[in-house]
Amino acid sequence: MGLFNKKYIYVSVCFQNSSRSYAYRTEDKSIKINDVVMVPVPGEAAKPAIVTKVQICTEKDAPYPPDKTKMIIGRADRKTRKLFDGVDMRMPMDISIKSVQTTNGHAVVVTDKEERRRLKEQLGKRKDIKLIETQPISKACSIVSRDDAGKPVRRGYWKVQEHINGDVTWQCSRCKSIFQYREAFCPKCHSENRKTSHDPVWVDELEGFDAIFNDK
Ligand SMILES: [Zn+2]
Repeated sequence: MGLFNKKYIYVSVCFQNSSRSYAYRTEDKSIKINDVVMVPVPGEAAKPAIVTKVQICTEKDAPYPPDKTKMIIGRADRKTRKLFDGVDMRMPMDISIKSVQTTNGHAVVVTDKEERRRLKEQLGKRKDIKLIETQPISKACSIVSRDDAGKPVRRGYWKVQEHINGDVTWQCSRCKSIFQYREAFCPKCHSENRKTSHDPVWVDELEGFDAIFNDK
């Protein structure tokens, strides 16, 4: 039974100037993405390669049978590591944008400072991803792209609720759901809420339009 549950560490590696990856095994738990290692190659001397993926598997979910998978030799020396300078195999993850649902499709919107902070906290320890930000925080809540062109869009606004303890919550004028953060689209009813009740003239106008539509 113990043997059945044995865990194996599989590493995928890429050789210099090649995009194909090859699977090896290791027993070194400290091996991670972007480490340069020496691996055995059939008919050749050991070659340096960069680690592109680390997977811990049981024999059952392993990509190759453990006894047929060669072990890496170990870490490359400092001079060999230099061959891979500037190579980064981590997957880039853009935390400055996110995909959200709209009334009739999807939109890519810019995240705000608070959301990026949360994502950094949640993903910052992941060794396989590189957090990038392509959009400035000043563009938070703006729409980068959307696939619902020409389709009807449900619009509302955010009713800003300031609480005695200083907290601010955002209530969707459409579905009345309350959120801790402002979003470009209501996460519940997907209404496009561009404005807030801080802009009283605009809100009055919008409520007027809503009334007309609702009367139909
Ligand atoms: Zn809503």
